Amino acid sequence: MALIVHKYGGTSMGSVERIKNVARRVAKWHAAGHQMVVVPSAMSGETNRLIALAKDIQEQPDPRELDMIASTGEQVSVGLLAMALQAIGVPAVSYAGWQVPVRTDEAYTKARIESIDDTRVRADLAAGKVVVITGFQGVDGHGNITTLGRGGSDTSAVAVAAALKAAECLIYTDVDGVYTTDPRIVPEARRLERVTFEEMLEMASLGSKVLQIRSVEFAGKYRVKTRVLSSLTPPDIDLATEAESGTLITFEEDEQMEKAVISGIAFNRDEAKITVSNVPDRPGIAYSILGPVAEANIDVDMIIQNAGVGGNTDFSFTVHRNEYQKALSVLESQVRDSIKAGSIGGDPKIAKVSVVGIGMRSHVGIASLMFRTLSEEGINIQMISTSEIKISVVIEDKYMELAVRALHKAFGLEQAA
Ligand code: ADP
Ligand code: ASP
Ligand code: MG
Repeated sequence: MALIVHKYGGTSMGSVERIKNVARRVAKWHAAGHQMVVVPSAMSGETNRLIALAKDIQEQPDPRELDMIASTGEQVSVGLLAMALQAIGVPAVSYAGWQVPVRTDEAYTKARIESIDDTRVRADLAAGKVVVITGFQGVDGHGNITTLGRGGSDTSAVAVAAALKAAECLIYTDVDGVYTTDPRIVPEARRLERVTFEEMLEMASLGSKVLQIRSVEFAGKYRVKTRVLSSLTPPDIDLATEAESGTLITFEEDEQMEKAVISGIAFNRDEAKITVSNVPDRPGIAYSILGPVAEANIDVDMIIQNAGVGGNTDFSFTVHRNEYQKALSVLESQVRDSIKAGSIGGDPKIAKVSVVGIGMRSHVGIASLMFRTLSEEGINIQMISTSEIKISVVIEDKYMELAVRALHKAFGLEQAA
């Protein structure tokens, strides 16, 4: 008997029938003697619908009010799931984030969890109830409702598991684990039995949306045993089989780790590139360009500065696509004249494709295989960045899927035939 946290995503909660299936699955775990906490997302499409409603009224929605609206999808889910559990004879109670409370900072739409009070939840668990807690939402120090950013229910679940020192956090979703790349793009992608925490962190940060990055950070910081698995199997399948299915995030490379050099390929279309050309090649230039961008609270990801020719150089960097216009206007208003830049331009139609694997530490030639593969497909690389366990390139976004497929093949990541 253990304390277990289950998280169910939007598709898994997508209809009354699916919610009933979730209830049956949770009931099975409860009947096996486990103390159960369940963290569901809003029903699929609901958060998008709510945000679209807000945008119909205000083009740039007020962040506090947006969180007030966007958080309601999860409130409906917890109530429905608690009722579905009660309907099959399982005592259950639902809580919104503020009732637990799940405390966050004040950063509306991207709040960070600061603490979770476990008193109420523990009392219910001790009384034999299943506790159903909203994903995605929390409450700040002034009692305002906050949300954790898109995909944030993963983070709620892992944070709840950390606060309760749960034996395991099971993330049930619409795929049966973490794959070498998104199986929607590459049908030959292979499920990983295990993935190291470090690799999962890179994959999530580079765009694999199967887990929100902050959930992986929590799992790492608090050593939460986390597994990603399917919610689409029959809810009454054997519990022991289910408990071993999917992908386990491990903290060490152990003997059983698959010996692949590359574990996966991540990609995203969330970024935009900005280039400031013909700037004087002198000390302080990067600071003159990026200082005002940072002050405007815009995160910068990749950066390249060319070697100067004739005293001038070009400087490029990427920002989130949502902040592209804002970054351009900061540069126009605060940077152009002060550094006498030649021109300021950009391209929102880029994609970032990354190969990730801890095996890279001990293997050479990964970069050259990656670059050769892209060159054979005629894909131009616009920017490159590397770390110990990943190589990322920026390419034109229309080539993204082609690049992912070609790299998946070149690195031998397909399922065995
Ligand atoms: P949920 O609603 O359950 O949170 P998400 O849509 O957020 O589900 O995440 C699951 C989706 O993540 C999958 O349907 C899949 O398309 C996508 N995905 C992206 N990269 C990967 C990967 N490497 N492995 C598995 N799924 C991935
Ligand atoms: N419902 C939220 C979203 O759509 C949170 C989540 O599903 O994880 O982003
Ligand atoms: Mg998700």
